[in-house]
Amino acid sequence: MVNGYKPTTLQEAVEIKSRVSVTPYAGGTDLMVRNIPDAVYLFLNDIDELRQITQDDAYIRIGAAVTFTQALDSDLVPPLMKEAISRIAAPAIRNAGTFGGNLGNASDKADSVLAGFALDGRVRLVSAKGERVIPFDDFCVRRGVTNIADDELIAEILLPKEKCALPYYYKKIGGRSALAISRVAFAGAYEVHNGVIQAISATVIGEGKFTRYREVEATLIGKSVDEVSANADAYAERFIEKMTFTRGRVSAEYRKTVVTNLFKDYFASMK
Ligand SMILES: Cc1cc2nc3c(=O)[nH]c(=O)nc-3n(C[C@H](O)[C@H](O)[C@H](O)COP(=O)(O)OP(=O)(O)OC[C@H]3O[C@@H](n4cnc5c(N)ncnc54)[C@H](O)[C@@H]3O)c2cc1C
Repeated sequence: MVNGYKPTTLQEAVEIKSRVSVTPYAGGTDLMVRNIPDAVYLFLNDIDELRQITQDDAYIRIGAAVTFTQALDSDLVPPLMKEAISRIAAPAIRNAGTFGGNLGNASDKADSVLAGFALDGRVRLVSAKGERVIPFDDFCVRRGVTNIADDELIAEILLPKEKCALPYYYKKIGGRSALAISRVAFAGAYEVHNGVIQAISATVIGEGKFTRYREVEATLIGKSVDEVSANADAYAERFIEKMTFTRGRVSAEYRKTVVTNLFKDYFASMK
């Protein structure tokens, strides 16, 4: 019985995916734990084009099979993304774990996905029939569910360069300082000119899904940083009232309190 395929090109990989029921396998750090009985794997590690970090005029492009360790060594990967992935697990997991696997696993606690949301990231999906590029918001439906078709593979994460250059805010709160899944995490990027907010993103781990409240973000544009900081409780509340926090190892009330405090800290950090 075949228990895996090892293509060396993306074209070969998507052709296999179009005709056989296979589970894509990158670093295996999630799949090894799941240990799916009778799985037939599509091993992605020999595909060079999935292991590149490149740039074009608009985007920093991170291949789906790029490991977190590789990305931490790259000058192209933006600081917000580096800070988020530097907090994933421990070196052994970061040496194997990949961006495609973090997205494909569809966890609501995926640290690189949080940073990708804050940076208006996009996902390039490829099948034997063609490709499409969709925002992270459209790819991540909810915990355990993504918007990937059966015949598609994640090929790249695209991060808009103008967002990568912005000042940012990032905090992860776990149960310990290493090997900790986020209980709460917060990522945002912003642009301020002459004390006035021109652009702002804010996204959290703690809701059971990844979301951007873009209509609330828009209400802060044009406000002065001084005003937002001075009225941080009220501005934080605009986001909090839209959010629904989940209960897990910690209570929903704990998550709500921590996220409220992180919003206030975020506003206070803006310059
Ligand atoms: C001890 C431990 C600690 C961890 N700590 C953290 C943490 O702190 N933060 C965090 O975010 N994660 C954490 N994880 C989870 C895991 O390491 C990450 O989700 C990692 O990014 C998965 O990448 P991978 O390459 O190993 O994925 P894999 O296990 O190879 O795959 C994961 C899923 O993605 C799919 N997939 C992989 N590549 C593709 C592709 N190109 N196209 C389509 N689908 C694809 C697979 O089919 C599978 O469903 C931890 C895991 C362990 C075991």
